[in-house]
Amino acid sequence: MAENPSPPLPEDVLEQNFSELLPPLTQAEALAEANRCLYCYDAPCTKACPTGIDVSTFIRKITTGNLKGSGRVILGSNFLGATCARVCPVDELCEGACVLRADGRKPIGIGQLQRYVTDYIMDNDLQLFQAGPPTGPKMKTKVACVGGGPASLSCAAELAKLGHAVTVFEKRELAGGLDTYGIVVFREPMSISLKEVEMVQALGVEIRTGVEVGKDVQVADLLNDYDAVFLGIGLGPVPKLGIPGEDLVGVHDGLDWVERVRLENLTEIKVGRRVVVIGAGNTAIDAAVIAARLGAEQVTIVYRRSEAEMPAYRFEYEFARQEGCEYRWLTLPVRILGEEQGPEPVEGRVTSVECVRTRLGEPGQDGRRQPEVIPDTEHVIECDQVILATGQSGYREFLDSIGLENDRGRVIVDETTGRTSHPVIFAGGDCAVTSNEMAAVVVAVEHGKRAAQGIHAMLD
Ligand SMILES: Cc1cc2nc3c(=O)[nH]c(=O)nc-3n(C[C@H](O)[C@H](O)[C@H](O)COP(=O)(O)OP(=O)(O)OC[C@H]3O[C@@H](n4cnc5c(N)ncnc54)[C@H](O)[C@@H]3O)c2cc1C
Ligand code: SF4
Repeated sequence: MAENPSPPLPEDVLEQNFSELLPPLTQAEALAEANRCLYCYDAPCTKACPTGIDVSTFIRKITTGNLKGSGRVILGSNFLGATCARVCPVDELCEGACVLRADGRKPIGIGQLQRYVTDYIMDNDLQLFQAGPPTGPKMKTKVACVGGGPASLSCAAELAKLGHAVTVFEKRELAGGLDTYGIVVFREPMSISLKEVEMVQALGVEIRTGVEVGKDVQVADLLNDYDAVFLGIGLGPVPKLGIPGEDLVGVHDGLDWVERVRLENLTEIKVGRRVVVIGAGNTAIDAAVIAARLGAEQVTIVYRRSEAEMPAYRFEYEFARQEGCEYRWLTLPVRILGEEQGPEPVEGRVTSVECVRTRLGEPGQDGRRQPEVIPDTEHVIECDQVILATGQSGYREFLDSIGLENDRGRVIVDETTGRTSHPVIFAGGDCAVTSNEMAAVVVAVEHGKRAAQGIHAMLD
């Protein structure tokens, strides 16, 4: 931001605004909540959890004070259970399926109970699982996991438990993927993700950070040196909109914006008075709430489709509303305007976004109804900061260079094994195309688990 930022909020207010939203449960609260559980036979919550955690068993163990046993149940199904406890869209998953909800009562707080247990495991440094015995006759078989996000970490942990020697290659300075760099801090502090990385390392997994596969080391080398390769590379940067003004000062990339709040001193992050966020997925909503909590006076989320097509989780959408963010549906930005603009403005400070109104037409290739511009509806939204958050692009060039079948940069995999079109390359997480299109940590963890089983079956 060059000028016109909102006056910075006092440090204590910022600290409060960016600390974890929900306080942890006390022992008494956890016991009271756990005792509400009906321990359903054939529990719908377990079926609704993508990683199939035996929810009623872990909750029952809380009631008997067996937190270690409870932790084994959770982490046995989901090694990243501490992150998932905080970030899972529980209303759409386990808690959404709770039978109490069908009865019109408050569902069991499964996420909060899971957090209570996993916090105990982490606070007491309990390592509940060990590396399995070596798999091959003398040597362990070797697997390379590319990317250090939840999909790869889950795959690596499962493989290590099964006795394989695993190396994770992560291009960034820290492992953890979006759990470390992308999840908004008031939902999950960075320390939880980093502790999970340590727990994976404690299983004997080697994590090499600062190594980009395709640049510092080639996939062909990995195929020579390892028995199998897992790709958990996630998705890339926010794509450009292709409209004039995207390079103006005051236009930010949504992922960078979310990341800054995790890495920088909050008092040093400048926010506009009037902020426009383009997109309506999770990155957009998080970016908008961050702007509001940093002190922006007006935050407007602009989306070219309607509320029904919005990709963000419902709870995120409600949350942003409560934070005072305004939604403009069926609105398409066509130009970002700045102070010192020429015919194609590339510099100068943002002053507004020019938009047109849209209506929804026939479904496109992706099955979603396509927005059509309504003529003569040009209008301007004044602002001094714009955040671009229209999803993430895939690593098409990288996948094409390895010759993997992909759909616009997302790998085609066999859903049960995670195997790609290459016999010893597996993939999962955001970078893979599957029938569950929910972009969520818990889904990535399950993909990693399944691929580990697929790799193990292949190497056995
Ligand atoms: C802003 C935002 C908020 C979100 N909020 C939530 C939420 O509240 N709840 C939820 O469940 N989900 C949320 N998600 C989705 C969730 O974060 C992802 O679905 C999940 O992280 C996917 O895991 P992954 O391992 O597939 O990919 P990632 O987490 O993206 O990890 C991929 C890793 O691979 C590395 N990498 C990429 N290419 C290479 C290479 N060539 N060599 C080496 N390393 C490489 C990357 O640096 C990265 O660390 C959010 C996503 C975003 C963007
Ligand atoms: S991992 Fe997520 S979906 Fe599964 S039980 Fe835990 S909070 Fe619910």
